[in-house]
Amino acid sequence: MSDWYTSFANSGVGSSLVRQLGLPRPAVLRRYEPGQPVLPGPAVVGSAGEGRLREALTAVLRDAGVAVLSPVATDGADDGADDGERPAAVVLDATGVTGPAQLAAARDLLAPAVRRLRPTGRVVVLADPPAGAGSPAQAAARQALEGLVRSLAKELRAGSTANLVYVPEGAEASVASPVLFFLSGRSAYVDGQVLTVSPADVPAGGDDERPLAGKVAVVTGAARGIGAAIARVMARDGAHVVAVDVPAAGEALAAVANEVGGTAFQLDVTAPDAAQRLVAHLRERHGGVDVVVHNAGITRDKLLVNMDAARWDTVMAVNLQAQLDLTEALLDADGVLRPGARVVAVSSQSGIAGNRGQTNYAASKAGVIGMVRAWAPAFAGRGATINAVAPGFIVTEMTARMPFGTREVGARINSLQQGGLPVDVAETIAWLAQPGAAGVNGQVVRVCGQSMLGA
Ligand code: NAD
Repeated sequence: MSDWYTSFANSGVGSSLVRQLGLPRPAVLRRYEPGQPVLPGPAVVGSAGEGRLREALTAVLRDAGVAVLSPVATDGADDGADDGERPAAVVLDATGVTGPAQLAAARDLLAPAVRRLRPTGRVVVLADPPAGAGSPAQAAARQALEGLVRSLAKELRAGSTANLVYVPEGAEASVASPVLFFLSGRSAYVDGQVLTVSPADVPAGGDDERPLAGKVAVVTGAARGIGAAIARVMARDGAHVVAVDVPAAGEALAAVANEVGGTAFQLDVTAPDAAQRLVAHLRERHGGVDVVVHNAGITRDKLLVNMDAARWDTVMAVNLQAQLDLTEALLDADGVLRPGARVVAVSSQSGIAGNRGQTNYAASKAGVIGMVRAWAPAFAGRGATINAVAPGFIVTEMTARMPFGTREVGARINSLQQGGLPVDVAETIAWLAQPGAAGVNGQVVRVCGQSMLGA
């Protein structure tokens, strides 16, 4: 399944028609393919003020095979460099911003580089978090960068994105993984996001092509849609996937498990013995688990005034209680959750913005966010992480069933003017499962193309 309008608007006939009608022309996004370089061109790396990360960032990018350009000194006209030198990304170290006056330096650096940015370009800004600021002026300036980045993300065209990473003192080693993710095609539909990394023991090196080699990954709701895409991406990245879904979806589940060289495990995650059975299965068959993706989810939409108990209870049981119960059982089962384990919980944009007719669903998905935030410190104590991924409008069977008008509006009202694909959610989840992402914990990453809903 793909976003039909994006394909149409980029076809021969379609592109002239949408131009004549003045309709939006969403870009074809740069999505990750194995073997693809991190960026299709060089990156401008600069700092606003005396940044503490610029040197390390330059080294990270060079190690990843990215050519690094120095920023152009002026914000004036084109500097005349030839087309081959147009940057594919701009990385700004804004840790030197100590007050509002230094924000102008961020503008001075970004403006000329962004003007020359190639299609499907990337802007990544790094800054100190407002929470650790020494004065209100410093906190204001750090927070101001959020407004700058989120607005720039809305101004960028041609499939380009802008994201911000807050880096507290001591968390410098955690920066490489999110920066490389945001630059790469893995983050195609992640736009206008703000992440805060934390100090962690980040393993050095690793296999870029198969970062999950040797890992066992459980994916619930893997028989179709986003779950099947997660299974495919995790397997591509080297993991052995244990694909979980309800017995009624057994045939589709087996097909996905076979396709990815994994194993199928039929389990209703809401069954009273589900946690016990999953723990026993992982212990006996695999000697433990490295990655758990809570993806199984359902909708039972009704306005609250018409919401019956069954609709409320089933949504809460699948989307929230099962995630709590399975995670708790895995934490309690001695040795099953391996050191450096990763839990990724699928939330939703509805859990952030709310959605008419979805009080039950949005409550469950907001609950997931509360869950990962509350558990993050305990996971950090084990060298593990727990994060949430909140998809926006993703083109799946679920969204295909929506009425045409609602669906088209839903797909267009984001900065990238298109719906995301299941693979976009899967790539973000697989990135969070990577050993290098050890410093990303208790975060909520939206995969929504910077949706205007709950922005
Ligand atoms: P989907 O309906 O296509 O797939 C969900 C899968 O979960 C199905 O295979 C289903 O059998 C399985 N499942 C349901 N109840 C289960 C249970 N009790 N035990 C085990 N498996 C169970 O949905 P999708 O669109 O692929 O969504 C996947 C996740 O992403 C869900 O959590 C959903 O809420 C979330 N999400 C989707 C979108 C979107 O636009 N599609 C947006 C935001 C969030």
